Amino acid sequence: LVRIIPVTKKINTARGYIQENLSAFAQVAAGLELPEEQRDQPGQIVFTGLRESIVFRDVDFSYTGRSKVLTGFDLEVPRGQTVALVGASGAGKSTVAALVPRLYDVASGSIEIDGLDLRAYDITSLRRHIGIVNQDTYIFNTAIRANIAYGLEAVSEARIVEAARLANAHEFICQLPNGYDTLVGDRGVQLSGGQRQRISIARAILRDPEILILDEATSALDSQSEQLVQEALERLRRNRTVIVIAHRLSTVRNADRIVVLDKGRIVEVGEHQQLLKNRGAYWAYLNLQSLPIA
Ligand code: ADP
Ligand code: MG
Repeated sequence: LVRIIPVTKKINTARGYIQENLSAFAQVAAGLELPEEQRDQPGQIVFTGLRESIVFRDVDFSYTGRSKVLTGFDLEVPRGQTVALVGASGAGKSTVAALVPRLYDVASGSIEIDGLDLRAYDITSLRRHIGIVNQDTYIFNTAIRANIAYGLEAVSEARIVEAARLANAHEFICQLPNGYDTLVGDRGVQLSGGQRQRISIARAILRDPEILILDEATSALDSQSEQLVQEALERLRRNRTVIVIAHRLSTVRNADRIVVLDKGRIVEVGEHQQLLKNRGAYWAYLNLQSLPIA
């Protein structure tokens, strides 16, 4: 406990720095507090959970106001289903994912959850139900236990260990010099890419979000770490509504719906077998990635 207090203080003073230097995605994933202007407005609806679907209607989006990054984007994500976004780098996949937790708002068109515009919901409650796992996992300079429970209050040891187990992180954590008390981050033990990803998955499991956004890594980890990460992601995805930016054939193939994006426009939608038969954009994409077609 004596050690925890100064570390917590350090995190608080570091918060300003983190918010300036950490991607908005990573901030939400880590459960950081929102900047003042994005906090709840009076009269907004508290989001208590997804009942039916997330729907994008004719969404246009631009970062700069000049060139459009998404044009006429339409998509329905029914509760409990997995939608995979595929397409070349720069096609707009991460942008689609960023619009759901309202890291940005649409320029025109709308995104609705259960028939209500996203902007009608109080943003804190909305984000509480959205989990994000991507490649830029931020590791705080604190104990590994606090890294997993970050942003949550009064989490029991048992739940932290359970989340770490499901995330395939428990074993490597137990091998660290002080187990769950081991300091990680810049001044502590350095974690490998695969270990960081599993910490990120453990965080998401602990938060138990209904809506999950996964941005799969493009570059492969070493094959053992890769398998552990994939297994953990499978567990995390179960019983959730998932938007996954997919680079792996196993993920794409199992999705309920696959959306092929090209320069911010949807060029094909369907499920794996159907899209293969079409021999269209999806088929060409798999060929280009030299992913085995089956
Ligand atoms: P993908 O995830 O498919 O690679 P992104 O959604 O990241 O594509 O990017 C789509 C387009 O938007 C690209 O042209 C990219 O350069 C641009 N872009 C992405 N993020 C930003 C940003 N924060 N500011 C300005 N332009 C951006
Ligand atoms: Mg991307």
